[in-house]
Amino acid sequence: MILNDPEFVEQMEGWGACFLPDQRLSEYTSLGVGGLADMIVIRDTEAVEPVVAGLRERGVPWGVLGGGTNVLAADEPLKRVLLHLAPGPRDVVFDGNTVRISAAASLGRSVMECAKRNLGGMEGLVGVPGSVGGALRMNAGAYGTEIGPLVRSVRVFRGATGITEKLTASSLGFKYRKSSFAPDDIMLSVTLDLPDKPFSQIIEYVKQLNKRRLSSQPLKEKSAGCIFKNPPGLSTGKMIDELGMKGLRVGGAVISERHANFIVNRFDGTASDIFALIDIVRQRIHKAHGVELEPEVIIWKN
Ligand SMILES: Cc1cc2nc3c(=O)[nH]c(=O)nc-3n(C[C@H](O)[C@H](O)[C@H](O)COP(=O)(O)OP(=O)(O)OC[C@H]3O[C@@H](n4cnc5c(N)ncnc54)[C@H](O)[C@@H]3O)c2cc1C
Repeated sequence: MILNDPEFVEQMEGWGACFLPDQRLSEYTSLGVGGLADMIVIRDTEAVEPVVAGLRERGVPWGVLGGGTNVLAADEPLKRVLLHLAPGPRDVVFDGNTVRISAAASLGRSVMECAKRNLGGMEGLVGVPGSVGGALRMNAGAYGTEIGPLVRSVRVFRGATGITEKLTASSLGFKYRKSSFAPDDIMLSVTLDLPDKPFSQIIEYVKQLNKRRLSSQPLKEKSAGCIFKNPPGLSTGKMIDELGMKGLRVGGAVISERHANFIVNRFDGTASDIFALIDIVRQRIHKAHGVELEPEVIIWKN
């Protein structure tokens, strides 16, 4: 436990936040690995400002955990407190073709809420697990759709100033699995402009995409999606496959036979197993192609 201050913890409750010491990150991440971490669950986003100010006063480092579907956390206890925004009942609010979605909301569920209002544009993202906040940070994308270009504005708590600001699209940058948010920004909500599209058409497309995902990805196993980014013009999955690495195993971690850019935690693996497998892949790809693979997954090590 790195936060040990009962008075501060009691104060937090009054602001709409709740302290959960020594949580196993393996239970919060889709890879099913990660050691202990202190967590603060934020039920009311107004609590973000005083909570972060309190952590700063006490010299306690902090980070943000969304749905945990793109995080590879080390096995050792994490020396930072993780803030986690809790979903609420009014996470998706419509005003004509504009929708405001809380960062805590599930991305897939938000796509479907928009579809029910005959609003399209996001349907390519339906199978991307995790939260809207995580999708903004990662500029999540699939099947030719990325969240970035749909954004009109984002409400962000800025770690640098301790102030919440509304950032409009012109001041934001989104690239392949990358956004221009500062590392200590906390996205609170996003406003998107979406085009009209009949529900029936959206659903038809969603069904097609779900089929494609099911047939090409190991969705029943623990993973974080693609473990590496694709270098410009190249497919990492294809390169790994061509080197015959599908099925390669270290401890409980295996390169998926279904999709070579997925590492799955099949046999109660540890983060160390996954790190070791990542190193092997990077070395072999570098030797064969002279390419330095960059992890797509966010690595949390002390
Ligand atoms: C089976 C599977 C398939 C996947 N397919 C895809 C795919 O097709 N396309 C794709 O892009 N990704 C894919 N992913 C990866 C992952 O789902 C996305 O990156 C997702 O957007 C991460 O969201 P999250 O809420 O889980 O973020 P987390 O994993 O919790 O966090 C990821 C990063 O975002 C930060 N973060 C989270 N919330 C906030 C916030 N509110 N404010 C500031 N920072 C925040 C975290 O600090 C961390 O740095 C897949 C993952 C799995 C398991």
